[in-house]
Amino acid sequence: MTQTPIAVAYGDGIGPEIMEATLRILHAAGAQIEIHPIEIGERMYLKGFVTGMDPAMWNIIRKTKAFLKAPITTPQGGGFKSLNVTIRTTLGLYANVRPCTSYFPYVDTKHPDMDLIIVRENEEDLYAGIEYRQSPDVCSSIKLISRAGCEKIIRYAFEYAKTHNRKKVTCFIKDNIMKFSDGLFHKIFDEIAPQYSDILNESWIVDIGAAKLADSPELFDVIVMPNLYGDILSDVAAQISGSVGLAGSANIGDHGAMFEAIHGSAPRRAGQNLANPSGLLLGAIQMMTHIGQPEVATRIHNGWLKTLEQGIHTYDIYREGISKQKVGTKEFAQAVIQNLGKTPESLPPVVYSAPKPHQNQPITFTDPRRQLIGIDAYIYHRGSLDSFLSKISHVNVGNLRLSKITNRGVAVWPHGQPETFCIEQWRCRFQATDDRPCAQSDTIQILHALDRLGIDLIKSENLYLFDGIPGFTSAEK
Ligand code: NAD
Repeated sequence: MTQTPIAVAYGDGIGPEIMEATLRILHAAGAQIEIHPIEIGERMYLKGFVTGMDPAMWNIIRKTKAFLKAPITTPQGGGFKSLNVTIRTTLGLYANVRPCTSYFPYVDTKHPDMDLIIVRENEEDLYAGIEYRQSPDVCSSIKLISRAGCEKIIRYAFEYAKTHNRKKVTCFIKDNIMKFSDGLFHKIFDEIAPQYSDILNESWIVDIGAAKLADSPELFDVIVMPNLYGDILSDVAAQISGSVGLAGSANIGDHGAMFEAIHGSAPRRAGQNLANPSGLLLGAIQMMTHIGQPEVATRIHNGWLKTLEQGIHTYDIYREGISKQKVGTKEFAQAVIQNLGKTPESLPPVVYSAPKPHQNQPITFTDPRRQLIGIDAYIYHRGSLDSFLSKISHVNVGNLRLSKITNRGVAVWPHGQPETFCIEQWRCRFQATDDRPCAQSDTIQILHALDRLGIDLIKSENLYLFDGIPGFTSAEK
C-alpha cells in the first residue's frame, strides 16, 4: 500500500507528548502514512509571524492529504491572530465535526447514553474577524452569515447523518433575535431538510437547546449550528460526556482537512507525562477514515475502547472505584498498542468503512429585485441628542429625509423615551417616507452633507428592499 503524506504539527504545551503517543499508536496499528512535520504555534508567534505560522508552510499543507495538528498556545497580548481560525478559513475547512460520546461506566458521567455529533460551521459568523473600534468607547464585531456558508454546512450535516446511519439532525439558532443572520441559517435548514426524508429534523432556539443539551444530551443525534454556538456547545458536550480530553475533531473542506483534539495546550500539565492523548488520537482516527484507511481506524478505536474498559486511565478520567490503574501519557499509549486487534466487551465496538465521497450540490444564488431606498449614517457624538439633532434634521437629498435616530437599536427620535440610556454611537436613518427608491449618488450626497455640517461619521449602511421586503431591521423598539 502506498503511504499517504500527512502534515504533522507537534504544537505547544502538552502537544508534543500527545502527538508522540498518537503517532506511536498509528504506526503500531499499521497506518500507511508519510509524515511531513511543520512548525507552528507559540515559537512562531514570538518569531514575529502574526498567524503563528511561517507562510512557507502552506506549501507542505497543500501537498499533503491531511493535517494532524496538536494544540498550540496563543501568546497573551494583542496583535496575534488565531492560527486555528486562519487555517480553517484559508483552506476553506467549512465543517467542524465533533463527536461527543460517553463511555459509561468506565468514564464517569451523568449522561450514560450520550452519543451525539456536533457539526459546527467553521468559516463565518463572528469568527470572520471583522471587528472595529468605532469610537473611543464603542466596539463592534460583525456576524456574517451567507447563503453559501449555510448551504455547505447544513447539507454536510445531513450527508453525515445519512452516511453514518444517524436518525435526526437538529439545528440550533437564535432567530427570534437575529432575524436576518440566524434567520437565514434557519430558512436554509428548512429548505434542505425535506430533501432527506429518512432523517428527522428539528430546530431549537439555542438558549433552551443548550439547556436541553446540558441536561438530556441523549435526546440529540447530529446538531448543526453556526460557528460561535458550535464552539461553545461542543466544549460543553465534550465535558459532560466525561472530559474535554476525550474529544477529537475534524475540520473538513473540499480541498483539505485538519484533525485535532478539541482541547488546548494545557501548559500547566506540559512535560510531566500526564496528559490524556485520547482527544488527538480520536482526531487521528477520523483522519485515518478520511484518507481511506478505515481498517486502521477501526483497530485503533476498538483497542482504545478496550483500554478504557480495562480501567487504564490518565489522571483526568481516573476515579477511585471505577479506574484500575492511573497511568501517564506514554503508558496509556502502550496499553492501547497492546490492545490493538482486541474488541471491547461491553462498550459498543466500532466498524469504519471507506468514506463515501460527498456529492457536492452547486450553491444556490437567489436573484431578488434589489432596490436602494435609503441610508443609515452612524455618528460619533458625546452629549445629548438635541445638541446635534438641530444640525442634521434639515438634511435632505432627493426624497431622502431624516426618518429615525436610534441608539443601541432603540428609537430615540422622533418618539424617544426619557429613560433610554444613550452611548456615543447614534444611527441616523435617511429614507423616503413612502419607501421610494433612490440613487446611490443620493445616499453619498447625504454623507457629504453631514460632513459639511461637521458631523463625525463612523460608518454607513445602505438600506435595500428585496422583492419589496426590507433587508434591515425596522428600529421600532
Ligand atoms: P485547555 O484545553 O488547554 O485546558 C483546560 C483544562 O483541561 C485544564 O485544566 C487542562 O489541564 C485540562 N486538559 C486539557 N486537555 C487535557 C488533556 N489532554 N489531558 C488532561 N487534561 C487536559 O484550555 P486553556 O487552559 O483555556 O488554554 C490553554 C492554551 O491552549 C491557551 O493558550 C489557548 O489559547 C490554547 N488553545 C488552543 C487550542 C488549539 O490549538 N486547538 C484550543 C483551545 C485552546
